[in-house]
Amino acid sequence: MSNKKKIICECCGIILDTPTTSSNFVGKCPRCGKKLVYLHKHWVVYSFCFAITSFLFAILADILPYLEINSSGITSGMKVLDYFDVLANQNYTIISVIILLCMQVLPLFVLLCIILTDLACIFFIKNKIFYCY
Ligand SMILES: [Zn+2]
Repeated sequence: MSNKKKIICECCGIILDTPTTSSNFVGKCPRCGKKLVYLHKHWVVYSFCFAITSFLFAILADILPYLEINSSGITSGMKVLDYFDVLANQNYTIISVIILLCMQVLPLFVLLCIILTDLACIFFIKNKIFYCY
């Protein structure tokens, strides 16, 4: 068994020895020609940062006014969450709940799951498979 690192082509499944290079690019698959790269060493941190940023912007989009009109000294505005109240007040409660689930609850839940999974990978799992190769 050699000590050389192995990489698997995602396209055709061939297992190849990898040359030692400083960059992520390894080469091209001899069978299918697909570009072969290593994952970045700290890819979990990137995923965590994107998820936390998306979560914060989603919360800010809910809190800050979406539409604000100032006319003749009278200011009127709406937030994203106000749309659900408007639909519910016009007897479209089921549609309001479905839209609320699809636009707010489910995306925030998925982002929260990604954040927690990434935190678990960063702090609790020390296996190298999560960092590279
Ligand atoms: Zn291939």
